[in-house]
Amino acid sequence: MKIILLGPPGAGKGTYASRLSSKFNVPHISTGDIVREEIRAATPLGLKIKEYSDRGDLVPDEIITDLLKRRLEKPDCARGFILDGYPRTIAQAEMLDKIADIDLVINLNVPDDIIIQRLSNRMICKVCGAIYNRLTLKPKIDNICDKCGGELYTREDDKAEVVQERLKVYRRKTEPLIDYYRRKGMLREVRCEDPMIKPEIMVERIASILRDAGLT
Ligand code: ADP
Ligand code: ZN
Repeated sequence: MKIILLGPPGAGKGTYASRLSSKFNVPHISTGDIVREEIRAATPLGLKIKEYSDRGDLVPDEIITDLLKRRLEKPDCARGFILDGYPRTIAQAEMLDKIADIDLVINLNVPDDIIIQRLSNRMICKVCGAIYNRLTLKPKIDNICDKCGGELYTREDDKAEVVQERLKVYRRKTEPLIDYYRRKGMLREVRCEDPMIKPEIMVERIASILRDAGLT
């Protein structure tokens, strides 16, 4: 199962990908996590990347593809993987075509008002990266991760001004991918019309598409 989750920031790619990963036992590969990891490690590359990420901009295609390629070469990816946050430009999609044989692309179709509401209420665990939401996916204890007890924080790029910028970048650079994959016959759509929809329901919808495609 080599699949891509496509969709605007805040569509729930990370939440669904991590659940699908446990369900089907294939790694969840988030280029956003890889980027944050690199920034945290404060490597020379990390410092360079931070400039782009902090202002809601995309990291250059060559840099991000290089990081992704190294990850996909690890043995745990041999059976498959779930890509979250990559590709984000047509150029990246073309580079990916050379690196991997993707089976299917799931497009999460989410209206703007839901996205903004989601991102402005998102919280993340400092320790394990688990994702929460002040409205829809509250931790049992305020600001504490259910899974590991770590402290929750708001991402730098989830601040309101940056969110608008990320959405603009998404429309301009990433949305054209929908047509790119549709033309190849690889695209499946999942709609999210209800802001309070439970992640389990969305995951079940995606899982059923994967089953229908013979990927599970
Ligand atoms: P989002 O919640 O917007 O999907 P991510 O966690 O996926 O954010 O990514 C955070 C930041 O990492 C992005 O704003 C961008 O700067 C960088 N990044 C992640 N994936 C890519 C990519 N495929 N191409 C370029 N930059 C990326
Ligand atoms: Zn945690």
